[in-house]
Amino acid sequence: MTSIARNLAHINGRTAQVCRESGREPGEVTLIAVSKTFSIEDIQQAYIAGQRHFGESRLQEAKLKIEALPEDIIWHFIGHLQSNKAKKVAELFDMVHAIESESQLKEISKANRQIQGFIEVNIAKEPQKAGIWPEQLDEFAKSVLHYPQVHLTGLMTIGPITDDPELARRYFRELRNLAIQVGVEKLSMGMSQDFDVAIQEGATHVRVGSAIFGVRD
Ligand SMILES: *Cc1c(COP(=O)(O)O)cnc(C)c1O
Repeated sequence: MTSIARNLAHINGRTAQVCRESGREPGEVTLIAVSKTFSIEDIQQAYIAGQRHFGESRLQEAKLKIEALPEDIIWHFIGHLQSNKAKKVAELFDMVHAIESESQLKEISKANRQIQGFIEVNIAKEPQKAGIWPEQLDEFAKSVLHYPQVHLTGLMTIGPITDDPELARRYFRELRNLAIQVGVEKLSMGMSQDFDVAIQEGATHVRVGSAIFGVRD
């Protein structure tokens, strides 16, 4: 077994365990292997081990990978989405995780294709972070309805950068409450450090990079 396959097996095992302990089904949680900066060969190793959902954050880098890799991969765009690239992103990716403006929605709609979208919420209103503020969410979620090409699937957030995953819990919990409030089902939250806490708090999509592929440069 390669180390990537071993890491995947470990994360899937941990996911199953946390689901069991939280009264959830492992099938409710989609593992997105965040492959940004890693090679096509690394992605192939994960693919051979059964992984099908991958996350990328830069358009040019992702395009080469998407063209080179099997068609049954489901590609998630998880990076900051510049409006001038949003049309191209919508043409290449199946899901877009960080929607936060109407100009993005307009550009996405120019791609002749349906995509699933998550609204990024900046729960703690951290100035260095993207995402809309919780009190703007109701209005913004309504505006997504004007763009039939974007199916609003759920909400996404990036937890605080910290060594203590427990510190992320209240943000994940708040994202879940916001999702109930606006009536969406999916929650994209949790990364290598805190995906288990996120699953305990209801994550349906966890975005895990370094715990699968190793440290990034
Ligand atoms: C890079 C990235 C991840 C993965 O982070 P790891 O700490 O490597 O698991 C998840 N979500 C987003 C938005 C990212 O940019």
